[in-house]
Amino acid sequence: MKQNDNLPTAAQKRKKQLKIKTAAGMIIRLIFFILMPAAFSAGFNGVKSLVTEIGRGEPLGMNGFVMTLIGLAGFTVLSGRFFCGYVCAFGTLGDAVYGLSGLVQKKVLGRKKQISIPDKAVPVLQKIKYILLLLIVILCAAGIYGSLNGYSPWDVFSKLTAFRLPDGEQIIGIILLALIIIGMALQKRFFCQFLCPMGAVFALLPVMPFSAISSNKDSCLKGCSACRRNCPVRIKPGEDKFRDGECIACEKCMNICPKSNISRPTQKIIKNEIVFLIVRALLFLAMGCFWGMCRL
Ligand code: SF4
Ligand code: SF4
Ligand code: SF4
Repeated sequence: MKQNDNLPTAAQKRKKQLKIKTAAGMIIRLIFFILMPAAFSAGFNGVKSLVTEIGRGEPLGMNGFVMTLIGLAGFTVLSGRFFCGYVCAFGTLGDAVYGLSGLVQKKVLGRKKQISIPDKAVPVLQKIKYILLLLIVILCAAGIYGSLNGYSPWDVFSKLTAFRLPDGEQIIGIILLALIIIGMALQKRFFCQFLCPMGAVFALLPVMPFSAISSNKDSCLKGCSACRRNCPVRIKPGEDKFRDGECIACEKCMNICPKSNISRPTQKIIKNEIVFLIVRALLFLAMGCFWGMCRL
């Protein structure tokens, strides 16, 4: 029987599916940016609260921030760093600034290739966030962190997303936020990869095997490195277990792989990637509203 020429090929179907998935991802990020801009601050306050209580030798209290932290950690263990890939407003800001910077470099400066930090330096710089986390833990435990009011770029960002201007005491936080935005313009997920203490916490959490993204290296195309080149944190999933925690679950590698060689076991249960993305977003939205993270 002659094949109908008007029927889309598998490649065309995949291309269309990826377009819809990318658009759905952007809409999900925008919705979370509007509804939960302070979710990352709430989680980080949970870390500070816990460490400060430990430092004071007080019994651990279950305040709203700690509950949020437990919720975020639980969601990450169960479904990977979906929070970082799609929910966190600071991550979305990083993506937007980097995208805009690329446009300016191409259209205004005529650059063919966007400026970025050399790939070899990335794994080394990714360690900085663990040092910062340790420093914050020490400062909290010693009871010093609380006196550093006005130093947090996150607090400044939270105020801006709440349509309030930062006050004069936050000048250092404002300068730090400006420097971070410059970094965001020069490197994909600059803050997430190199500086975010919450990112360090998430990267250290285990991810349940059914949610871990991995690749089958035996089925790779010879000489191909498309997944790593397109990965914002420069990893090939499943290749280096010590760096797998860096994965922000954005799924760019899955989208780009010419052999559909990257997957997570949960795909066997929900085969449609767009539906799976929406299901996780709805689950997080419900959880976020329950934990009081939603601004509505
Ligand atoms: S690494 Fe930090 S800033 Fe980046 S998305 Fe995750 S929590 Fe947000
Ligand atoms: S993009 Fe796919 S085929 Fe290419 S290296 Fe990555 S997993 Fe292998
Ligand atoms: S591209 Fe793949 S490996 Fe890289 S962060 Fe996104 S999901 Fe993780």
